[in-house]
Amino acid sequence: MRILVTGGAGFLGSHLCDYLIDKDHEVICMDNLITGNVDNIGHLIGNGSFSFIKHDVTEYIFISGQLDAILHFASPASPVDYLQYPIQTLKVGSLGTHKALGLAREKKARFLLASTSEIYGDPQVHPQNEEYWGNVNPIGPRGVYDEAKRFAEALTMAYNRTHGIRTRIVRIFNTYGPRMRLRDGRAVPTFIDQALRGKPLTVFGDGTQTRSFCYYTDLIEGIYRLLLSDIDTPVNIGNPEEKTILEFARKIIEITGSSSQIVFEKLPVDDPKVREPDIRKARKWLKWKPEVSLDEGLRLTVEYFQTPGPA
Ligand code: UDP
Repeated sequence: MRILVTGGAGFLGSHLCDYLIDKDHEVICMDNLITGNVDNIGHLIGNGSFSFIKHDVTEYIFISGQLDAILHFASPASPVDYLQYPIQTLKVGSLGTHKALGLAREKKARFLLASTSEIYGDPQVHPQNEEYWGNVNPIGPRGVYDEAKRFAEALTMAYNRTHGIRTRIVRIFNTYGPRMRLRDGRAVPTFIDQALRGKPLTVFGDGTQTRSFCYYTDLIEGIYRLLLSDIDTPVNIGNPEEKTILEFARKIIEITGSSSQIVFEKLPVDDPKVREPDIRKARKWLKWKPEVSLDEGLRLTVEYFQTPGPA
């Protein structure tokens, strides 16, 4: 297939580019580089199956020739980033999704939207299954990301119903691994960075809020299976191994062998209290389940951050 990956220079987008090239597809990577980084795709430059276009997907997208699939991954994705770029986050989820869907219609390409567990907001159903509609504060600071992705899902389904576009929606739960930016503000790189420097780990609130962390290789495999499937309703992909953030901080101290302490800081507004994916749908229809344990994934990630070069 000839595949466009928007946000292809980001953490997940760049891993997707690698995976698709490995599967012998031709990849066009598009990114405006506000949170993406060319270092993530530097090793692909010069590969005949890969090309990079610096472009903001909220503007008209022109691609010559045939296109078989579009994977729409462009968006700031860490709370710190979307608080820094609130309007860009809303625009890429709305206008950017519109442009990418328009291109899919023109090219008769399959379209896969990177959606998020954030569409469930601060959930009142636990674990979260795909039938749950969510509990999102539309006007809070976090709403810029949550509502942009909710709108993107709505638009994707409208193009599916109105224009018969073959669409897929993946709801991505917290994912981590190499190529996250060390200072992107998310719990995994922040805690690893703090632990490696012997600084206190900053746990927000009392640390009883939970998250379930998935290693990126598992996520990418699930996304590829979804792309090839014929499921046009949303599918959760994540690792259901739920932990409190305090437990998680302690685990990072243990894995890094750090002497860091833990300090408690103010909880961000609208920070969800619990999060765990119900993955029965992915298990049944994609025959997918996570393979990498949290310990193993964290060890690999710490190793990456310890080797000089990144960040
Ligand atoms: N968190 C924390 N300390 C940090 C960064 C994050 O305690 O330095 C908490 C954050 O409040 C949230 C959880 O860790 O409850 C996961 O945060 P992250 O930004 O990784 O992702 P989110 O799931 O909130 O999008």
